[in-house]
Amino acid sequence: MGIFSKPRLRSHDRRDDMPEGLWIKCPDCGALIHMLELKQNLQVCPHCTHHFLMDSRERIALLADEDSFEETEIGLISANPLAFTGYAEKTASLREKTGLDDAAITGRLSIDGQRAMIAVMDFKFFAGSMGSVVGEKITRAIEMAIAEKRGVIIVSASSGARMQEGMLSLMQMAKTCGALARLSEAHLPYISLLTHPTTGGVTASFATIGDINLAEPKCMIGFAGPRVVKETTHQNLPPGFQTAEFMLEHGLIDSIVPRSQLRARLGTLLAYMMPVVP
Ligand SMILES: [Zn+2]
Repeated sequence: MGIFSKPRLRSHDRRDDMPEGLWIKCPDCGALIHMLELKQNLQVCPHCTHHFLMDSRERIALLADEDSFEETEIGLISANPLAFTGYAEKTASLREKTGLDDAAITGRLSIDGQRAMIAVMDFKFFAGSMGSVVGEKITRAIEMAIAEKRGVIIVSASSGARMQEGMLSLMQMAKTCGALARLSEAHLPYISLLTHPTTGGVTASFATIGDINLAEPKCMIGFAGPRVVKETTHQNLPPGFQTAEFMLEHGLIDSIVPRSQLRARLGTLLAYMMPVVP
């Protein structure tokens, strides 16, 4: 954003007596929010309902019935198949910093009593990019769902394919979609939840092929970024381009669900969609 178009600072943003790291400014309405209040409010701005990023652990705590989450495929970490300079060091430092193995967590859980498999992407790890580990974990979660007759929920938040793994990242798009096709053949439901931001190879593969595609309010959904689209098409982009609301209007997603209602909505949908066991 150019410096001249930045919103004006509010006077209460300039207090000097506040300890650092306790307050965060809402990028949408500019209000200052205490971190504790934000956490208690599911990382949603209490003033304007702006949805802040939610990490994978928080997301699972939000969605899973108490003590029902059982993580799978712990310890899968990426190799450096292309010997990409600095990649091994970068992933090692991210593992240490975030406590995550890679940009997705998978596991069994129940949501409002409905058994399911979940994969949650985490934007904190390498901007949620999909390399071999993310693709493999998601594929194994889907295969486990087929074996155990569970529905699948994938929560996306991604900058797209991880370029440091080149073609091996891109092939995860086909691999995950292939697994989802087998899930469909097994008559088991797949619900995709798109969160801010979902872009690139993740948008172009599993994130947008759910039996039902849900999104959080105002989240960015796209393939290439708006600047690239504008430069390629030489056209002015319509207002609200690449937001969840725009995608709902144009049929890419089925419903926008505020974070506070997600668990109940997913539980209801799973109850509708899971096959009846004779
Ligand atoms: Zn706000």
